[in-house]
Amino acid sequence: MTARRTITAGQRRDILAAQANICPLCGEVINLARAKNGEAEPLEVDHGHALGLGGTDTRDNLFAVHKACHAKKTKADRRAMAKVARAERRAADTDEGRQKPRRKIASRPLGGSRNSSLKKKLNGAVERRP
Ligand SMILES: [Zn+2]
Repeated sequence: MTARRTITAGQRRDILAAQANICPLCGEVINLARAKNGEAEPLEVDHGHALGLGGTDTRDNLFAVHKACHAKKTKADRRAMAKVARAERRAADTDEGRQKPRRKIASRPLGGSRNSSLKKKLNGAVERRP
């Protein structure tokens, strides 16, 4: 996976300007003026093609999006990443190096039952079953 670089405020502004303040995920305007003082800006920078799915950390893969839209997309991306990981695990899971299914270890037969190797006769004598 590509290393994630820090995006400066200037880069963020450039990204936002390049897409005319429109969030590519919902198509609505990202209004920075609505941000309240002390609170985080309502925009985040998204990797259009998620890093975990082979996307790059370059300018052409960066998009300014609403925080809420980003959360939704990230969730979907994570699901896709998990799916890819599952498929890779399945592909790598060959018979080679895999443990053979272990035979169930037979439990000791209950003493005095027909399955035990010893037999107690009515007269009290104990003998081995043939
Ligand atoms: Zn949005």
